[in-house]
Amino acid sequence: MKCTAPFQTTIPEGVKSEMSKILFLDRDGVVNIDKHFVSRVEDIVFVEGIFQLCKYFEEHDYQIVIATNQSGIARGLFSEQEFQAIMSFILEEFRRHGIVVLACFHCPHGLEDNCTCRKPMPGLFTQALRQFNTEAENCISIGDRERDIEAALAAGISQNYLLQDPQMNTGHFFGSIVVKSLDEIVQIHQRLSLEAQN
Ligand SMILES: [Mg+2]
Ligand SMILES: [Zn+2]
Repeated sequence: MKCTAPFQTTIPEGVKSEMSKILFLDRDGVVNIDKHFVSRVEDIVFVEGIFQLCKYFEEHDYQIVIATNQSGIARGLFSEQEFQAIMSFILEEFRRHGIVVLACFHCPHGLEDNCTCRKPMPGLFTQALRQFNTEAENCISIGDRERDIEAALAAGISQNYLLQDPQMNTGHFFGSIVVKSLDEIVQIHQRLSLEAQN
């Protein structure tokens, strides 16, 4: 099956530049708590610290892009329209917190579709990088699954954070910094930025 162009929620004009930087967020498990195939607005519970994290990265000139696998669409668990309704709700909540999400790219396919956008394939990332004229080396990604990190790495993004359940204790995954909270990402990024200046 051929890959269709991912759905984009909002593309403000005039935002792209050679120097642009993107913070890529996985959705389920990073933006909202992963309840396994979130299909209704009522299922959305935001992950602690997500708005503060986005504000921090906006202040550091990052544009926010959500890149999300949504195989629930291919499985018939929810429709494209239902997915879009949930995204509209999420983006409205971001706006209420003063945060602009540049775009949302999603893969609606299932594993058997063999598309190039389902993570760990890099398609969602490469499409955003191309569309917003952004170099992978200027970007950061945050995911809660190893396949999120694999996809980002395959797109050339080297600064990746893997958000893990505090109950789990695996500790490391290739190509990523493993954290237990979104707040920890802000702390690490602040420290790395300071080190880079000195
Ligand atoms: Mg996830
Ligand atoms: Zn796909």
